[in-house]
Formats: sequence, structure tokens, C-alpha cells
Amino acid sequence: MPDTETVTTADVLPPAEAASNAADVLPDPAAASSAAGAAPRRRPALSPSRASDFKQCPLLYRFRAVDRLPEVPTKAQLRGTLVHSVLERLFALPAADRLPPRAKELLAPAWTELSADRPEWTELFEGEDTADWLASAEKLIDSYFGLEDPRRLEPEACELHVEIELGSGVLLRGYVDRVDVAPTGEIRVVDYKTGAAPREIGEAKAMFQMKFYAVVLWRLRGVVPRQLKLMYLTDGQSLAYTPDEAELLRFERTLEAIWQAILKAGRTGDFRPNPGKLCNWCDHQAHCPEFGGTPPPYPGWPEPGAGEETPLDRAD
Ligand code: SF4
Repeated sequence: MPDTETVTTADVLPPAEAASNAADVLPDPAAASSAAGAAPRRRPALSPSRASDFKQCPLLYRFRAVDRLPEVPTKAQLRGTLVHSVLERLFALPAADRLPPRAKELLAPAWTELSADRPEWTELFEGEDTADWLASAEKLIDSYFGLEDPRRLEPEACELHVEIELGSGVLLRGYVDRVDVAPTGEIRVVDYKTGAAPREIGEAKAMFQMKFYAVVLWRLRGVVPRQLKLMYLTDGQSLAYTPDEAELLRFERTLEAIWQAILKAGRTGDFRPNPGKLCNWCDHQAHCPEFGGTPPPYPGWPEPGAGEETPLDRAD
């Protein structure tokens, strides 16, 4: 599949035959059986962000998925969430309208809507004008347009919620930034990266996330995605990768092994710290023994819900 200005059939979707988003989401048996009016209960699942956390540092996984310690988002994270939302809205417009000025017009209303849902996000800007911050989001939008022309694409889905139970019983769940499907059936998985951390630091994590989505889509649709494409909006570069079935099979086993290790740690509460370079980006040093802190008492394995992603995870 080309990664250039040239558009082939592989870049264009079949409009009518495209599978609906709903068809990609397995029914949640727990939700279906919940009593009328009760909040839906979701089975614990493995998401790419939480799997990556566990691989990086089991204690970080515990703090996020089990203790659910609050994290204060950075302005860069919020900007990423905003830009993801704008790109999703952009593809909802008629193709001819998908131009940079129109995309930038979407920034302010998108922020108004996002922050209305999470008023704590606006507290980060208390007493500050958001104009500079919005201008920095405009730069990411410009960078996106430098990488592709959205007028020439018709994605099948943006912010697609995907969920699949593997044969081993592991439930995988996540959100894919964008799925493009060619009339010939070739699938391209696209992820926008907007984070402030240096690209080299996030690249292995980003590829782990993309392979996770590739496994989910392969198992849902029976087709190995033809391309996994990472679009780095901070530095205006993209990275494309073609997975193969044998590799995805091995990766699936890795995910199963990670989930088994999580369940084992979850039973005993033995989530060990694994310090490294990424500690600089960890919000939980105050609770981490590696930094002189003490974790809170282990609350036990949360049923259900461990492994959920947050909107901020989707915009790293
Ligand atoms: S500070 Fe480092 S070692 Fe401690 S929990 Fe965070 S990532 Fe793990």
C-alpha cells in the first residue's frame, strides 16, 4: 500500500460494503446480562497501553490498572487528545472540505466539547490564555497535512473500538485511530502520534501497540492487515510496517503470556518495579520504592474493568 501522494484503489474504501463499526465490537456478555438500569459490567481485558505498562514496569501497571491512582495530564497529552478528536471530525466532513483551515476551525469547538466532559482538564489552564496552546495544536494539524491529503482518503472508521476474545480466553480491547480498507480488502491500520517524548523512546511501544491492533483486526476479520502506519505529527514523519501471519501468531502468544503474568501478579499483589529511562515520564515516583516511596496497600484484583484505556492513552 503506498505511503505517498499517489492514491491507488488500496487507499479508497468501498463505501457501501464497509463493515460497520458496530460489527467490529463483540457483544459484551456481562453488559447484556446486567439488570435494566444497572451500569454495564465489563470483563477485565488487555489493552495495548496497559500491556505495554506491564512490560515496562509491573508496578506501573498496578498503579494504573489496579490502584487506579490519578494522573495529572500534561498539556501535551491534552493537545494530543484534541488533535486526535479534530482528525476524527475532519474525516466526518465531505472529502472536498478536508483542508487545513477547516481542520483548524475544528480545534476550538472540539476543545469546548472535550473539556465539558472533563472539567478537571480546564484546571490545567487556570488563569492562562489557551491561545498559545491551541496554536501549538495547529502546528500538529499542519504537520498532518504535510504527510497526507485527507481529501483523497475515505477511512472505514476512526477511533474504532475493537474487542476480541482469543482462543485462550484472553480478551483484547482497544481503540484504533483509523482503519482504511481498500476495495480489494487490504487493511491499513493508522495511528497518529502526537506525544512530546522523543520518538526513539516511544517507537518500540508504538510498534507494540500497532501489532496489538493487527492481531485484533486479523482475528476479527480473518485478514492480516497489509500495513501498520504510524504518523508522527510532532516531527512530520511516518513509519510503515507490513506484518505477516507468523509474526502475528507469535505476538498473540506474547499477549497471552503477558495476560497470564498479569493475572498471576494480580492474585498475589506481587507487582515489581522495573526502573528505567521511562521512569522520567512516570507520575507515580512518590509511591515507588525505587524512588523512596511506598505503594498504597494492595486493594486486590479489580473485577471487572482492569485494563481499560483512557482518552489520554489513545493520544500518546
Ligand atoms: S517510577 Fe519507574 S519503577 Fe517506579 S513505578 Fe514508575 S516506571 Fe515503575
